Amino acid sequence: MKMFHSNSTFTYVFMVFFACATGIADENKKAPWFKKALVGLEVGPTGTERGPETGKKYAANFNGRDIVQKTIEANADYLVIWARDGWFAYYDSKILPKPEGMGKRDILKETMEEAKKHNLPVIAYCVVQYGSRATRENPDYRMVDSEGNPFERNCFNSGYPEYVEKVIAEILKYNVDGLHLDMLDQGFGPPYGCWCKYCKKLFQEKYGQEMPKGITWDKDWDRMLEFRYDTSARLEKRLTAFIRKTAPGVTVDYNYHGNPPFSWRVGQRPVQHSHHGDFITGETGIWGFSALGVGLNARFYAAATPGLPVQVVMQRGVRMYHDQTTRPLIDMRWELLTLLAHSSFVTIVDKTAYDGWLDPVAYDRFGKAFTDAKARQEHFGQPVVEDVGIYFSHRTRDWYGRNEQGKYFRSFQGAHLTMVYEHIPWGVVLDESISLKSLKRFPVIVLPNANILNKNEVELFEKYVEGGGRLILTGFTGLFDQMGNALDSSMIENLVGAKFVRRMESLDNHVRLGKGNATLPTLSTDIRKNWPFLVKGPAVVWKPTTGKPVGELLQPDRSNLQKEGRVGFDWPLSAADPVGPAAILNQRGKGSVLTLAASPDYATTSEHRIVEARLLLRNAIESFRPTPLVSIDAPKNVEAVITHDKETKTIRVHLLGYLAPPTTTPPKNRPFTLPALIEDAPIFRAKIDVQPEIVEVKVLNETTKLKRTKQRLTVQVEDIHEVVVIQYR
Ligand SMILES: [Zn+2]
Repeated sequence: MKMFHSNSTFTYVFMVFFACATGIADENKKAPWFKKALVGLEVGPTGTERGPETGKKYAANFNGRDIVQKTIEANADYLVIWARDGWFAYYDSKILPKPEGMGKRDILKETMEEAKKHNLPVIAYCVVQYGSRATRENPDYRMVDSEGNPFERNCFNSGYPEYVEKVIAEILKYNVDGLHLDMLDQGFGPPYGCWCKYCKKLFQEKYGQEMPKGITWDKDWDRMLEFRYDTSARLEKRLTAFIRKTAPGVTVDYNYHGNPPFSWRVGQRPVQHSHHGDFITGETGIWGFSALGVGLNARFYAAATPGLPVQVVMQRGVRMYHDQTTRPLIDMRWELLTLLAHSSFVTIVDKTAYDGWLDPVAYDRFGKAFTDAKARQEHFGQPVVEDVGIYFSHRTRDWYGRNEQGKYFRSFQGAHLTMVYEHIPWGVVLDESISLKSLKRFPVIVLPNANILNKNEVELFEKYVEGGGRLILTGFTGLFDQMGNALDSSMIENLVGAKFVRRMESLDNHVRLGKGNATLPTLSTDIRKNWPFLVKGPAVVWKPTTGKPVGELLQPDRSNLQKEGRVGFDWPLSAADPVGPAAILNQRGKGSVLTLAASPDYATTSEHRIVEARLLLRNAIESFRPTPLVSIDAPKNVEAVITHDKETKTIRVHLLGYLAPPTTTPPKNRPFTLPALIEDAPIFRAKIDVQPEIVEVKVLNETTKLKRTKQRLTVQVEDIHEVVVIQYR
């Protein structure tokens, strides 16, 4: 639930939410609750997220019976109820006080009694990090910064885990179906790392040396990062084992922060911290992740936990949690249905009014959104088609990104944006769990500035290509060592089929296609030939050996003012002379590698994001992609998710229209506006070309117009979501 911190430009309040449970263990030993769950609610009070709220009004009407009844009316499959936050227990605890306004009531008891009548699974929400009262009462639990100053965040190597277990043991006595353990981070803001006596001792034991004195970005800091990662993982393992032992059958899940935009600071890796519960739970929402982040989060979570269900959490508020606002129905439906289309199950977080009042408008909308989603339930949950793997290198995140992880995320996110805009089905490949098998799932893999690769990764990529895989490399991929230092030579010259000459110092680099175009004619589709265009981002000069050059990379002009140091390089200047090829196509074994000297991925999310830069990446991918199951032509504001049920020979094309109207000038940080809320259903057309022979096609919405001409389908949709269900022979 909560938290945190800020730098000078923004303050994020992070919250947390919830979790899960298993239903009715003794009555029927069927599948655990989450296997059948599609949608749920998490309900918690508002008031303590910024401190220990006092007085008789706070949470006075926070009432388990009402919450369960409203949850049932809203057609939710389960309820996550707050049992413990940073300051209070909402049940009779011997460890923590209840808010004064609750009097003698016990919310967990009220909730369980009412839920039993309705067979509603109940998951108890329990804070882990930011257990502020525990920290104040037990100063030994505090983290300590590198200067030796304690601060109010819980150290997982102190006696705090034992305290958490005691709280969990109390909650488990209520026969809840599951526990959602929230915030297993080690800080979203400074200070980073803990130098308390427990950590110092453990570190010494493990590494035979003292901790580094601070953030040193050297071998010692590498150990420190490892130490932090292991600390988080150890706590998750410990709490899971405790719950399994104390109450077998009760589910456990952790709020996950291994995905972008989170970095090493949080203390989580994409894979290492993803699978200690019964399923992964992650947040989403435009407030912290962008509109594109909704689908990206869902797929990232799935990539981190192959085979496990994915729970994604969204919020009711127009800005974030606890803000006492309610989004329009269609805005909520867009996010909910996007997540469901990506085969997640979804929890909406409701933070009640200060006194615990439940906003009737919010519950009306939850009910409508859930009822609508459940009417489409049979069309969710099938395997998502992923033609192209986007490679995510957490080592690059940590050691190239260092204190500016955006330097790396921009490339990963630019590759993702390209897939969505161009309606190319994509998935995520994680460096932590790389194997030949994980690579072979994808006919094409893109490495968007995966700058730090190790020997094992390079060897696997070579095998992948030799066996017929197709690889696209951009920018500085493979040009940094494990500690994030620039290399003098490249580890991937054999893949590229070229000799590494140098990294460009400039970011305002240009590409011109035309020269050598016959080698890969489709690279210039929709881009004017012999025209230099800006591809802002890292670029490399290569000298082809076995590879064939395509197009030219051009260095930027430099004005005299720039040369004299009176003007910086932030703003792009025009193209000057060619310095190397724009791309190199290298055949190797049965596969091939296309190396883009510039970074169209980075360019696409930069402030100078011309469309042609994105088209360059699209063309590279389309040049390599085998004939797809279905090809989709739809506007850029429409996300397509394709699922394929091979058993029933059914392809489903989910079309999700995003429609945020224009916004006005913000009062600060111009021009960085918040996107507007969706109030109107978009109307859009999509063309779908189907490869296998179509037997039957249907759509779900009455308002959708569907036309079929042989293997081509044309739909006009008047909603934020439609599913084109294609039966083939
Ligand atoms: Zn510590």
